[in-house]
Amino acid sequence: MTETAVRIERDADVRRAHASDASGLVLVPDGVARPTSGEEVAALLAECNAIGAPVTAAGGQTSTTAASICDRGVLLSLRAMDRVLEVDAERRVARVEPGVIVADLKRACAAEGLLLPLDPTSEEECTIGGAVACNASGARSLRYGATRPYVRALTVVMADGTLTQLRRPQLEKNTVGYALAHDPVDWFVGSEGTLGVVVEAELALLPLPEQVVGLALPFLSEAAALRFVAAARASESLNPRCIEYFDQLALEIVRGVEGARDWAPDATAFVYVEEEPPVGLPPALDAWLELAESADGLVDDARVYEGEGALREARRVRHAVPAHMNERGDARRAFGGRKVSTDWAVPYARLGEAISRARSLAREAGIEQAVIYGHAGNGHPHQNFIAHDADELGRIERVVEATLREVLAMGGTVAAEHGIGKLKRKWLPLQMTPLQLRGMQAMKHELDPAGILAPGNVL
Ligand SMILES: Cc1cc2nc3c(=O)[nH]c(=O)nc-3n(C[C@H](O)[C@H](O)[C@H](O)COP(=O)(O)OP(=O)(O)OC[C@H]3O[C@@H](n4cnc5c(N)ncnc54)[C@H](O)[C@@H]3O)c2cc1C
Repeated sequence: MTETAVRIERDADVRRAHASDASGLVLVPDGVARPTSGEEVAALLAECNAIGAPVTAAGGQTSTTAASICDRGVLLSLRAMDRVLEVDAERRVARVEPGVIVADLKRACAAEGLLLPLDPTSEEECTIGGAVACNASGARSLRYGATRPYVRALTVVMADGTLTQLRRPQLEKNTVGYALAHDPVDWFVGSEGTLGVVVEAELALLPLPEQVVGLALPFLSEAAALRFVAAARASESLNPRCIEYFDQLALEIVRGVEGARDWAPDATAFVYVEEEPPVGLPPALDAWLELAESADGLVDDARVYEGEGALREARRVRHAVPAHMNERGDARRAFGGRKVSTDWAVPYARLGEAISRARSLAREAGIEQAVIYGHAGNGHPHQNFIAHDADELGRIERVVEATLREVLAMGGTVAAEHGIGKLKRKWLPLQMTPLQLRGMQAMKHELDPAGILAPGNVL
């Protein structure tokens, strides 16, 4: 081992502590490395590459697709590299190590009057490295987009241990070479640890909005709520930063959260919207209520969230849904079951049709309906099933595959947010052509010829 190489820990407790993520799978690595610098990561990769030993990078290990766990080689935890190196209010950029927790960076930026727009629901547990590697998105991506556009520069350790600095070109026009080669920063955003290890990131920031208002709107039926979502998206006067949908089962989970127990007793679904009123103008509450009423909304039970504390509360309530489902899934692990989550998406106008087809497919297969909630404004719900045992897991996976085929026929995608990881790899060829897959394999081979980085993820 070279002087700069980080120690590989073989202790069973340490290995087990890094063996699970939010996928419900347990994969115990052969060893765990916890570097504190990019140089240590580089030395480790150079050594592993020389002997063909696999290395899987991990941040907060909140992956729902088993992308951050492995049962071969070294689990490379970047959590100890957690320094915010710089928040430059003038240039509106933050420079950070990969192990910084997303919400911690958001708070550091807010203290400077700046917004880090990345918005995964898991922001209190997930890292910047993980968010970059998964191109994380969230509720507010409706306005701000996913992580990708905010990544200005990356320092990446390549599979052979070379430290490489990459910066997005500032060109407004460019005709040199294939589009694929224009901006290597894009190769690593969303690459799920398979092409290189991010050891530093520079992220673009925006001014913090002056005002934010949230509104929870209950509906009598799923159909009415989804009609409202489509109308809100199509509206030219309303300008929401998120439109989130919650079905009846999600509403029941929300009602279990303190303060929400007796809310909207007649509702079987609700929609949560947030908007950032322009400076000096009041929020468009009346316009929202009017639109909800025209879609049979129960507007008398609408709740308004104004101010930092109230918005944090709304976020806590929303987070209760995936957190509750994760707990239910974990409780079935001993029986061969787990949570099965989807993150398919369709063009927003077809969301009602897609959810209705998804429910029919589950009903026809005789399986319990999933909890359906999430980023409806982007045509992107989460459909979370609980498989109680291994047999039910198989039946649910067949229903999910049938749903994905219909989603693709509607112009959708099999994974809009959580990536492919290990669990969704089997569905990649449903969406991508053999030519696209060969292109990705060629790139992987070029950047990681020995195939040591995150084997089993994506390809
Ligand atoms: C309750 C809950 C809610 C969630 N909500 C959202 C959501 O709203 N939006 C969303 O997008 N996702 C969501 N997720 C999924 C997950 O939180 C995100 O994908 C997150 O960005 C992963 O970050 P992490 O630090 O936990 O990464 P990990 O889970 O540790 O790793 C994820 C992937 O990134 C790679 N990776 C990690 N660090 C590095 C690095 N430094 N260099 C290279 N590769 C690296 C890993 O190899 C792996 O492939 C949710 C998960 C949970 C459990």
